[in-house]
Parts: sequence; structure tokens; C-alpha cells
Amino acid sequence: MSKPKIVVLGAGYAGITTTKRLTKQLSPEQAEIVLINKHNYHYESTWLHEVAAGTINPNQARYMISDVINPNRVRLIYDSVVEIKKDEQRIVLENSEVTYDYLVVALGFVTNTFGIKGMDENALFIQDIDSARLISEHIEYQFAQYSAGENTDEDSLNIIVGGGGFTGIEFVGELADIVPKLCKKYDIPRNKVRIINVEAAPSVLPMFDRDLVSYALQSLESRGVEFRMGTAIKECTPEGFIVGDDAELIKGGTVVWTGGVTGNPVLGKSGFELVKGKVNVDADLRVPGEENLFILGDCSWVMDKQAGRPYAPTGQLAMQEADVAAYNIKALLTNQPLKEFALDDKGTVASLGLSDGIGSIFSGTKLKGKAAAAMKKVVDDRSLFIVGGPKLVLKKGKFRPF
Ligand code: FAD
Ligand code: NAD
Repeated sequence: MSKPKIVVLGAGYAGITTTKRLTKQLSPEQAEIVLINKHNYHYESTWLHEVAAGTINPNQARYMISDVINPNRVRLIYDSVVEIKKDEQRIVLENSEVTYDYLVVALGFVTNTFGIKGMDENALFIQDIDSARLISEHIEYQFAQYSAGENTDEDSLNIIVGGGGFTGIEFVGELADIVPKLCKKYDIPRNKVRIINVEAAPSVLPMFDRDLVSYALQSLESRGVEFRMGTAIKECTPEGFIVGDDAELIKGGTVVWTGGVTGNPVLGKSGFELVKGKVNVDADLRVPGEENLFILGDCSWVMDKQAGRPYAPTGQLAMQEADVAAYNIKALLTNQPLKEFALDDKGTVASLGLSDGIGSIFSGTKLKGKAAAAMKKVVDDRSLFIVGGPKLVLKKGKFRPF
């Protein structure tokens, strides 16, 4: 009799952790495991704002999948998923097809532009390694062009960031660190470069309490970041953002949109019922009515029963879901009861550059400044440790002094 085949789509936080757990919990005789990912590397999505600013090298934020998953135990396929044919238990890839008995969909997020006119065409996104690297190279090119006299328009040096959620704020924090260095490198006075964050809501980072938000704003403003809060972006043109009722143009040579994320478009293409671009899953992380189909991470909504709303999509959530999904797949294979998912919330930390940050950890302990920055690095290294142990932490971890 052939072994059941478990196929995992995506090697981000949810996919790589599920695969790792499955290899630990199941013997090679119990199941065949297949991991499919677009690239032969995993990247730390939670570090992409640093890649986008150029404060870390893109290679630090990624590692080869075969360094952490044994290719003799798991069949690794590096290809793009085009469609999930769930009625036929078949995955269509760009270059081949794969069938499955059990499926884990962990294809992550894409940037959501909410149909804002011109955003897809004119803004840059922090979405994966390549899109993030493009931003840092674009910024440097603007500086190089200005310095060489190829472009004398001072607005070309402006970096404008739409959205003051976590991604937007962490990104401008990195920019506040790197811009003075770029100014030195290209002999440009610092006061010629503007970093402008534009947020529709009355304040940035609404998930943190007021005290931490005002600390963050003060820290960033003192390092040259300007904020336009209560300012909705209506359109994006090649020159910048058009905002407010009087259609003011905020000009920038680098225009970045961090206004939100949604689930991978493969879900819609595959006929799943979507709620705001993602699939509602049951507490055991399966799609309602589907015995063998799990959806994890930024592709799904899981209800936080205590709060009465779905959990916010985070790396922390994705990795914890992976543990439960792997457990539940084993439970299905061995006719055991399935577990329900509940997040063990370790808290939230937002960086404001290398040596500053804010956070709320362990049910409400507030952190700011260097303590928060240090905690952020512990969190970043922890995900490396969970997947690749101390060896991966030593190779890719964050140890820079600050
Ligand atoms: P991902 O980690 O995005 O992985 C998806 C994987 O699927 C990738 O490997 C991708 O290449 C692959 N893939 C995509 N499409 C295809 C396809 N068609 N075919 C094959 N493979 C495909 N969360 C926190 O908890 N803490 C933080 O500090 C934090 N910081 C963040 C900072 C930034 C800048 C951003 C953007 C997000 C941050 N988040 C943070 C959120 C967190 O990164 C996401 O919630 C998390 O990455 C979701 O994990 P995932 O496994 O669902 O998807
Ligand atoms: P988000 O949805 O959290 O924030 C987007 C921001 O853009 C919001 O503040 C929104 O008001 C603003 N916005 C939307 N439309 C706008 C418009 N037209 N004009 C101006 N502003 C507009 O998105 P994100 O920051 O990309 O975060 C995505 C997910 O990733 C979140 O769930 C977050 O928790 C997670 N994340 C976590 C961390 C962390 O824990 N340190 C870091 C980054 C992201």
C-alpha cells in the first residue's frame, strides 16, 4: 500500500515550521512529505523592512531550505503554485503537477492596495526579498543620480511611505538610521532628504497604547521623520501620493506603499470562499467541510474566541499554527482526536531602527528604547532557532551591537 502524501505549499514561517514538525513527528514509513516553494530559500518576512531600507544585506534575511530540511526525508520542489484543484486533490505548478492526500496551504501574504488608483503601477512594496531589495537599490539610485547632477530635482530625494501600521513605522525607523549614512556617502546635506509617513487614521500604530505611540513619534521625529496623520491617500502617481479632499500632491522620488496585506491570490484563483482575501478556517485549522485541507498563516483567518474576532496575521501566529497543523495531520493519520488552535500570545514589539523600539510583552509589560530593540532581536533570532537550531542562529542571527 502506498504511503499517504502530505504536501505543504510555501516555505515561509508556517510552511517551513509545519514541515520541520512533520519530519519530527512522523516516521518515513508513515508518510511521504513534499514541500513546494517558489524559491530554494526561505526568507524572514519579519525582516523585510530592513532589507527595504538597506540596513541589512538581503542574504542575511534568507537561508537555503535544504540547510534546515533534509532533502532525503522531504521532497523539495522549487516552483510556483498556480492553482489548487481541491476537488481533484491536485496542485498545478508553473512547471509540473503534484497530487496530495493531505494539503497544507501556507502561501503567505501579498500587499493590498485596496484598488487605490495608480498604487499598483507607481508604488514599491515590501512583499518579498526581491521587492524589498528593489526599494533600497531605488533609494540609493536616487541619491547617486542627484549627486552626479543627473537629476537636480530635490523632491527626488524624498522617501514617502503610505501607511503607518507596523510595516510603515518599522520601515521609516530603518530609514532614519540609513539616510544619514547615504547622505555622507553621496555628499548630500541631510536636510535635503525628507522621510514622510502618511497615515489615514488619526494616529500611527493604533494597536499600542498612547504612551508608547507618543514615544515612537518623538523618537522618529527627532531623527528627521515627518508624519502626516489623518491623511488618506487617494491616488498614487509617478510623482507621489495625492491626499485629502483638496488633492494635495506629496512628492517623492521613492514611493512605498505599506497600507496593508491580504492572502495570496492563488486562494481566489482556486475557488476558495474568501473573506477579505483569506479563508476562514475552523479551530482545528482545516477549511470547513474539508477533511484533509489546512490553511495557515497569512492565507487564513482563525477566530480568537476570547476576543470574538480573528487573530491579526503575524509570524508568531503562523509558527504556532504550524505546530497545531502538524499535530493534527498526525492525529488524522493515527485516528486520534484533533487539537483546537489558541494563540499563546508572547506580545508584540516594533523596531524603530537598530537601537530603538516599543513593545508590549507577557500580557502588558511595556518596553521602549534599547530594551525593546534588544527584545526585538531576541524575537528575530528565536524564529531562526525554532527552525534551524543554534547553527542557524550563529549563521544568520542578529548580534550587531547598538
Ligand atoms: P510567509 O512568511 O510570507 O511565507 C510565504 C511563503 O510562500 C514564501 O516563502 C513565499 O516565497 C512562498 N510563496 C508565495 N507565493 C507562492 C507561490 N505562488 N508558489 C510557491 N510559493 C509561494 N509578524 C510578527 O509576528 N512579528 C514581526 O515582527 C513582524 N514583522 C513584520 C515585518 C514586515 C516588514 C512584514 C511585511 C511583516 C511582518 N510580520 C511580523 C508579519 C509576518 O511576516 C507574517 O504574518 C508572516 O510572514 C506570515 O507567515 P506565512 O508563513 O503565512 O507567510
Ligand atoms: P496594517 O494593516 O497593520 O497597517 C496599514 C496601515 O495603513 C494602517 O494604519 C492603515 O490605517 C493605513 N492605511 C490604509 N489605507 C490608507 C490610505 N489610503 N492612506 C493612508 N493610510 C492608509 O499593515 P502592515 O503594517 O503591513 O502589517 C500587516 C500585518 O503584519 C499586521 O497584521 C501586523 O500585525 C503584521 N506586522 C507585525 C509587525 C510586528 O509585530 N513588529 C511588523 C510588521 C507587520
